[in-house]
Amino acid sequence: MHTPVTIIGAGLGGLTLARVLHVHGIPATVYEAEASPAARTQGGMLDIHDHNGQLALEAAGLMDEFRAVVVEGRQTIRLVEQDGTVLHEMADDGTGGRPEVQRAELRRILLDSLPAGTVRWGHKASGARALGEGRHEVAFADGGTVVTGLLVGADGAWSRVRPLLSDATPEYVGTSFVETYLYDADTRHPATAKMVGGGSMVAPSPGKEIFAHRETGDTLHAYVALSKPRDWFGAIDFTDASAAATRIAREFGDWAPELTALITDADTAPVLRPHYTLPAEHRWERVPGVTLIGDAAHLAGPNGEGANLAMLDGAELAKTLAAHPDDAEAALTEHEQAMFARGAEAVTFEGAEIHGIDSENNTARAMLEMITGQGE
Ligand SMILES: Cc1cc2nc3c(=O)[nH]c(=O)nc-3n(C[C@H](O)[C@H](O)[C@H](O)COP(=O)(O)OP(=O)(O)OC[C@H]3O[C@@H](n4cnc5c(N)ncnc54)[C@H](O)[C@@H]3O)c2cc1C
Repeated sequence: MHTPVTIIGAGLGGLTLARVLHVHGIPATVYEAEASPAARTQGGMLDIHDHNGQLALEAAGLMDEFRAVVVEGRQTIRLVEQDGTVLHEMADDGTGGRPEVQRAELRRILLDSLPAGTVRWGHKASGARALGEGRHEVAFADGGTVVTGLLVGADGAWSRVRPLLSDATPEYVGTSFVETYLYDADTRHPATAKMVGGGSMVAPSPGKEIFAHRETGDTLHAYVALSKPRDWFGAIDFTDASAAATRIAREFGDWAPELTALITDADTAPVLRPHYTLPAEHRWERVPGVTLIGDAAHLAGPNGEGANLAMLDGAELAKTLAAHPDDAEAALTEHEQAMFARGAEAVTFEGAEIHGIDSENNTARAMLEMITGQGE
């Protein structure tokens, strides 16, 4: 007999968990802070990897729906020097293992696959407490509560469930992204559109980097990375879009104008996205009746794995619970051991040391050597 599962957070991790539980006939309810699926734009494109995110979608029985929303040709990666020289391009020949989709479409596929009423919107968890014998009470910001025999925190970096298991809190890693969008780029920003090319483009340098992506249609989405303390960004007034863009662009004063236009010519106000991490070795002793998945459990800098891992965590936890119908504790133990190993591996992935943004080796040429073994 399966215990119904209470999930906090309807991100990709929590929704994948709910879906795979549903596939196995296990009831679940997801409590989500946001008021509705449309409460917030969902961010840009995600590459969904064949070794983690796609395995989760297979377990969810949603591969056809996933393939239908893949944006073709976007796996091309272009390596650019700061003067605008294109050093290398890895073309998308359609066989790569990391097809790109819009995050919002992936979330919609998962939401549409759940029985009506599975997600309870507008339920922001404010805390949770143990009631003994594996039962927990979750309190919500509106004063409501729910009691559950099996609680999963899928509520991201600032999880309200995590304190039941661990004292760890995310720490600023010393780098932030500034996010911008350029719309109708082929006609309105042609030089920059040409520079970015058909997929993604990265222009790295020690301490700073511009990464841009061609999204659906000809929208360009850029992450401008700067290695600076929080206080440095704190001194910039991001409510004054033009002044903020000018200040950020000043850090790239000697870069090609087609690249800096991703900051200065943006059609949206620049949005600051500081990076936080949990320690690579973050883990906890088993606490009956509760666990975590995704960013709530393991939080790495932006390495293109977080959403993929959150989905795999959700799928694997659901499968493990299905395999232990009368012993949820055995399932949670198995899930955590596997997840701890996956999370640590993603943080300390090969190349992370030498290609930290602060590294002197964070250059297009060094990156090319690492990727292809050639200096060109
Ligand atoms: C700028 C940026 C770019 C990124 N790019 C990529 C990429 O290209 N590829 C990739 O794989 N990963 C990427 N990531 C990482 C990825 O976004 C995360 O790892 C992933 O979203 C984690 O999924 P999750 O379901 O664990 O948490 P989240 O996506 O954070 O979802 C948590 C959910 O819980 C809800 N919630 C939060 N608190 C509460 C509460 N108290 N009560 C109820 N609900 C709550 C939130 O509203 C949200 O819906 C990027 C991250 C950033 C910041």
